[in-house]
Amino acid sequence: MGSILCEHCAAACCRYIALPIDKPVKPRDYGDICWYLMHKDISVFVEEGDWYIQFQTTCKNLGPDNRCMIYEQRPEICREYEPGSCDYAGGGYGYDQLFTHPTQVEDYYEKKTGKKLRAVDRNGSPRRARVLKSS
Ligand code: SF4
Ligand code: SF4
Repeated sequence: MGSILCEHCAAACCRYIALPIDKPVKPRDYGDICWYLMHKDISVFVEEGDWYIQFQTTCKNLGPDNRCMIYEQRPEICREYEPGSCDYAGGGYGYDQLFTHPTQVEDYYEKKTGKKLRAVDRNGSPRRARVLKSS
């Protein structure tokens, strides 16, 4: 954070962390992703074929003025982040897929395999992920 662009942004890049996860293969893998999405402020996205889990959580070093309070000592990952292609600028930043609810994963699985996956019942209660016979 620190460019002129950042002056106009509410520090979007300091309000989440995203970590790579294994690409799901088996129904159980998809069931696990559904389980991640049963938690508050979690999303899963796919970018250039790679899968990530994202935690919407604000960095403790972000000040009330949306400025980094440890700017001179900020971590390497923050230094590498380029304002020109960041969340706020939107340049080159886009998801192939974004999942925020388990039913989106079920729908994705069905479209991909032609089989139904049920990790939640459609009334909202979680249950063990299983593949249903195609109807
Ligand atoms: S999202 Fe971009 S513009 Fe906003 S603070 Fe981060 S680097 Fe700056
Ligand atoms: S250390 Fe500073 S620049 Fe890095 S995420 Fe936290 S507030 Fe943002």
